[in-house]
Amino acid sequence: AGGAEGGDAGGSFDIGLPGAEEGKVVTRFPPEPSGYLHIGHAKAALLNQYFADMYKGKLLVRFDDTNPSKEKDEFVENIMKDIADLGLRYEKLTYTSDYFPQLLDLGERMIRAGLMYADDTPVEAMREQRGRGEESACRGRSVEENLRLWEEMKAGSEVGLANAMRFKIDMKSVNGTMRDPVAFRCNLTHHWRTGTKYKLYPTYDCACPFVDAVEGVTHALRTSEYRDREEQYYWILSAYQKVWPGGLPHVHIWDYSRLNFVNTVLSKRKLTWFVDTGRVDGWADPRMPTVQGILRRGLRIEALKEFILSQGASKNITFQEWDKIWTINKKLIDPVCPRHTAVDVEGKVLLTLEDGPSPPEVVTVPRHLKYPPAGKKAVTRGRTLWLEQADAAAISEGEEVTLMSWGNAVITAVTRDAATGAVTALAGKLNLAGDVKKTKLKLTWLAAVPECETVELSLLDFDYLITKKKVEEDDNFMDLVNPVTKFEKAALGDPNMRSLQKGDVIQLERKGYYIVDEPHGVKGAGKPMVLFAIPDGRTK
Ligand code: ATP
Ligand code: MG
Ligand code: MG
Repeated sequence: AGGAEGGDAGGSFDIGLPGAEEGKVVTRFPPEPSGYLHIGHAKAALLNQYFADMYKGKLLVRFDDTNPSKEKDEFVENIMKDIADLGLRYEKLTYTSDYFPQLLDLGERMIRAGLMYADDTPVEAMREQRGRGEESACRGRSVEENLRLWEEMKAGSEVGLANAMRFKIDMKSVNGTMRDPVAFRCNLTHHWRTGTKYKLYPTYDCACPFVDAVEGVTHALRTSEYRDREEQYYWILSAYQKVWPGGLPHVHIWDYSRLNFVNTVLSKRKLTWFVDTGRVDGWADPRMPTVQGILRRGLRIEALKEFILSQGASKNITFQEWDKIWTINKKLIDPVCPRHTAVDVEGKVLLTLEDGPSPPEVVTVPRHLKYPPAGKKAVTRGRTLWLEQADAAAISEGEEVTLMSWGNAVITAVTRDAATGAVTALAGKLNLAGDVKKTKLKLTWLAAVPECETVELSLLDFDYLITKKKVEEDDNFMDLVNPVTKFEKAALGDPNMRSLQKGDVIQLERKGYYIVDEPHGVKGAGKPMVLFAIPDGRTK
């Protein structure tokens, strides 16, 4: 279903891909299984789907698993879930690790062609040389010497471990990415898929152009901060085309702007830190900008797609406002989500209606006035009602108020605590003939009678993980961590809320939109239902 909806909203992508032919375009989404997908990855995934659809071509999904130190099965499994949730329709699923044998063959051919050399300059010194555009003493090693060191690297020997295999490009290039980047390095860590079979691994720069070409990718979409790498990618690809038997097809790079959000970090390394330090409860925490986190917080997948495709093909890197995406979401949920009632527990006040129905009466009302499929709910009206302290405190003695979904009442007495001024009790009588349009206060209430079996609720709201609006390159994000990001309050919910399921989205009258995270009863007796507030795009 996914991409078809995307296509409808995608008028802004009238910029096409270079050299694209209908029916022949192949795009790919290449996540590294080193974390769950975040909203930036969702953009990458949906754009690749969009262009594959636009040209009636194919989308490939490839796990880019070339670094055993960062990758895990847990991430593969969750990325698969995220891909399913995003509705990606891909032609096939591959792993860069499937190509390790060919990549090793390729490495040897590159060495024989004099296009790679082994370098045992220590990492830091190598970085400095690259910065200065200075050639390493190892650059002149003979093919024989490089082949010998290649075997040492493949064996993961001490000598092998001390070396990195580098592309021999141009140490004088103004483009730093052309200064002999590393192509292979040793790593003895267990690889999530190939175990200990390999002792050396290609870098992303080395593996990507080859795998793109052999898989027949016609257009490789990349974020524009890698634009410097375009020259490098094409150099590497054309070197491979020369050494690989039978050659390799061309791949076009097409770049688009990276997605950034205010008060947010979008980098798996930084998000990993939040998870590992326990500042969030895992990758699917509703405060995380991961696909799982934002869906759990109540974002509809359609809203995510609409937002991403509304970004257009702009190549400027901008910071997006979360309000924008939540506003799109609100437009989708408001017309259909059922309405329920909840009263904050803290400071709740009993209103006694002298002429309230006793025994209580039960009426059936729609769960959404304009959306019949939302069904109906029972509302119990009694002689005593629970009101919220904030509402009670606003009432003056003798004032006529409206009890939501019932009618008017006149408040005859307001009792306050002498010390704190808080309202402790209210008395009143019904005036159902009164005009609901003429009252100032519309009150949320729940009958305080045994027949109205209210549900205990825990309402959670969240704040940004990061205090600074626009996190910059040289900011240390750890200095910008918001100390308090979770707010909990207890409430009583109407009895109908018992039947809500995990993931159900509702509106709590006069409070806002909520998503059920833990339905009634799942955690056993005495444990409240857990609901998360869904942002509605209005800045708090
Ligand atoms: P991160 O820094 O979050 O780990 P990455 O690029 O290292 O990102 P990958 O798993 O390699 O993570 O990314 C998969 C694809 O998603 C790549 O094509 C990458 O360019 C793209 N991508 C990653 N972050 C963003 C973003 N913020 N906006 C758009 N595309 C992104
Ligand atoms: Mg990457
Ligand atoms: Mg990254």
